[in-house]
Amino acid sequence: MRSDESPDTTKGQSGIFRAALLGLCPQCSEPTLFEAPARVALECPNCGLDFTKYERGGRVSGLFTVMIAIILIVLAVLIESAFRPPLWLQAAFWAPVTVGTVIYGLRLFKTVLLYAAFENAGERSE
Ligand SMILES: [Zn+2]
Repeated sequence: MRSDESPDTTKGQSGIFRAALLGLCPQCSEPTLFEAPARVALECPNCGLDFTKYERGGRVSGLFTVMIAIILIVLAVLIESAFRPPLWLQAAFWAPVTVGTVIYGLRLFKTVLLYAAFENAGERSE
């Protein structure tokens, strides 16, 4: 456990991006939120917070992945028609960009939903 219990100092838009990148627990701010790159853990091993109570993005995250894929395909087509890069360069560029964007997008999506649910549940103290 950490001594500074209230995470209010870093709240706001930049806080949520950092939380998604590092997978920070909304209660204790330890990097315990994700057990796999884009899968939320069942509970926080540090403070015991039950993440399953707050994770509601499971059903829409497939749709979200498809949306990211469509955006990336549109970008790929635009770049292809504008610059006509060689195929190996496109593959070398798009493979890591696609994987990284989908994983980070899913993490951000799930983190935003989970933090919103967590803050709704614990709002009475504010
Ligand atoms: Zn925790």
